[in-house]
Amino acid sequence: MTHPLSDRINSLPVSQTLAMAAKARELKFQGVDIISLSLGEPDFNTPDFIKDAAIEAINQNYNSYTPVDGYVELKEAICKKFKRDNDLVYQPNQIVVSTGAKQSIANVAQVLLNPGDEVLLPAPYWVSYSAIAILCEAKFVEIPSSIDDDFKITPAQLEAAITPKTKMIFFNSPNNPSGSVYSEKEYRALAAVLEKHPQIYVLSDEIYEHINYGYKPFSFAAIESMYNRTITVNGLAKAFAMTGWRIGYIGAPEWIAKACTKMQGQITSGANCIAQRAAITAVLAPVEKIQYMVDEFKTRRDIVIGLLEKIDGFKINEPEGAFYVFPDISYFFGKTIDGTTIQNANDFSLFLLEKANVATVTGDAFGAPNCIRLSYAASELQLREAIKRIKEAVS
Ligand code: GLU
Repeated sequence: MTHPLSDRINSLPVSQTLAMAAKARELKFQGVDIISLSLGEPDFNTPDFIKDAAIEAINQNYNSYTPVDGYVELKEAICKKFKRDNDLVYQPNQIVVSTGAKQSIANVAQVLLNPGDEVLLPAPYWVSYSAIAILCEAKFVEIPSSIDDDFKITPAQLEAAITPKTKMIFFNSPNNPSGSVYSEKEYRALAAVLEKHPQIYVLSDEIYEHINYGYKPFSFAAIESMYNRTITVNGLAKAFAMTGWRIGYIGAPEWIAKACTKMQGQITSGANCIAQRAAITAVLAPVEKIQYMVDEFKTRRDIVIGLLEKIDGFKINEPEGAFYVFPDISYFFGKTIDGTTIQNANDFSLFLLEKANVATVTGDAFGAPNCIRLSYAASELQLREAIKRIKEAVS
């Protein structure tokens, strides 16, 4: 039976990251020994100093509705963070706190995009970008890249993708799913193209900024000519192991911040009071306090790359940030392994789930159909076991 759902929801794809995580959970519940490398979620506990701030907030009776755009103290703390880490000057009236960076991105898209507007997505891109554009009845336009380009687009590609209908571009560095990091020089070269097209706004998703293994990621809004056209998105989930606390935020031109507050005021109101109080402590904490997690991710990255490189058919690049590897596995397309014919990345991901009991996410979901994503936000023991199983399954 078909239910009378709206065209809007019918046109929306399911989030592949969340779907794979749910599938892995379900199989685990049934007793299958699944190792899930599907969800991008730190496996650390939230640091004690942040938990203590939350407990204190509960004891101090922070229980009422919060201001729609966030507590003033949190917005001031976020301004300090932007100055300290990104050399960006924002005033509190340019900040909007949301229930996670995902909501921040959805707010921005909802307030800027009209039906028919075009949104540029340098691929690979995070699964929800395209879905968020679909919800706005905008058209998303992929700009492809491959492992041979280190999964980065060039200024010439950007120029070629722009039309009079282009309204926004979504950048994400360090990137989910590739782990690639654009350098300041590369960003400036892309900005030089955008300078010629003043109708285009930039959404710069910097949620993985602290999880980097080489040079410090650059902020798009730090380019002077881009500041008034850029919305900087960030949040606490990844760097502070606070995925479930749901706190994200933007720094943006005031008129965009105001519009996002209006949107949020009709949909969710302000973000959770306890999480916001804890967030003040988190964003003001010296970044050295979370370095142990970054160091651990780097160790795991090196282990994972070293092991995957030894599997025939896995083409790997070296991610410089985030906690994902994104191998090109197109070598397996058209091959039959153990009675299963692999036509595409989706087949390969399902094959790994069934034959190796390892959950990954297909690259199709990220606009990169030759790849699969593995999250190495898992213990070293689990990672070694998962890759051993993958190797056995494909050899
Ligand atoms: N951003 C994470 C990921 O890509 C969490 C899941 C999601 O919201 O997509 O796995």
